[in-house]
Amino acid sequence: MKKLVSIVIPAYNEADNIFVILESIKKVFSTLNYDYEIILIDDGSADNTLQNIRNFASSSENIFFLEFSKNFGHQLAVKAGMDNAFGDCVISMDCDMQHPPDLIPDMLNKWEEGFEVVYTVREDDKNLSKGKRKSSGLFYKILNWLSDIELEPGAADFRLLDKKVVNVFRSFNENEPFLRGLVKWLGFKQYAIKYNPGARFSGESKYTFKKMFRLALHGVTSFSIKPLYSAVYLGFILSFASILYVPYIIYAFVNNVEVSGWASVIMTIVFFGGLQLIILGIIGIYVGKMFMQVKNRPNYIIRSTNIPVK
Ligand code: UDP
Ligand code: MG
Repeated sequence: MKKLVSIVIPAYNEADNIFVILESIKKVFSTLNYDYEIILIDDGSADNTLQNIRNFASSSENIFFLEFSKNFGHQLAVKAGMDNAFGDCVISMDCDMQHPPDLIPDMLNKWEEGFEVVYTVREDDKNLSKGKRKSSGLFYKILNWLSDIELEPGAADFRLLDKKVVNVFRSFNENEPFLRGLVKWLGFKQYAIKYNPGARFSGESKYTFKKMFRLALHGVTSFSIKPLYSAVYLGFILSFASILYVPYIIYAFVNNVEVSGWASVIMTIVFFGGLQLIILGIIGIYVGKMFMQVKNRPNYIIRSTNIPVK
């Protein structure tokens, strides 16, 4: 019996990309000796994405869809796909042709060699805007420095996971999973393939700067509590520094030196006020995450699907 490969594709306002990605995957698999299924997740699109997906799904028996009740975000869309995939391995990729389907045979070869995670790293990104390249480089620098996992710059959400790994993922109930980090954290035998990203076929990137910043902040705070320690260290350093000031105060008092300057006092108050707010904010982020997780709401809601209950 042939092995089954599940392809998971999140789509958010990608109406014009559905046809192209499905056709190119079909072409790739026509040369391979695998069965495959495609699971498209409509992440609350406002355009014809769902309609287009439904059209394709109704005319072929290996195309499935999950319709979210609203936009839950890329990471949860991929998670939902993995939760509902039945393949011996699952490949997740973007809808916009930036993750070249031609790489799928290489990924499958590595999987057959025994690697349980085959992930991809963007190598040459001349198709990306300068701002995106810079911010992506910065993102990984900060992330690796602050968290306890090492991610390669350019690591993409284009990866193959063995069924074993997918099953582990299913048991996760993270409110906002950060898949790139989680995959690295899981262990297993991993292999990285370098690739050149294609240009986006149609439409624009859904990752605005705001969303990327959120993902970065989220990546750090879901993998490490280093920021909390930095608050403690900073507190120690500043307290110690203020003690150094004591001898001068005594000197000034004994010698009747007139200490002037409300400006410096005001500045100090404002500076430390700000610092305290930042640190309070950091603590707040962690408390907030606990709050969201403790409520234990479903992480995503499916409005409709054509996946049969198996
Ligand atoms: N995506 C999604 N939900 C979102 C944002 C994006 O499902 O809220 C999908 C999108 O349709 C695409 C993939 O995630 O298939 C990557 O998004 P995009 O291409 O916009 O990001 P970029 O490649 O620019 O980082
Ligand atoms: Mg893209």
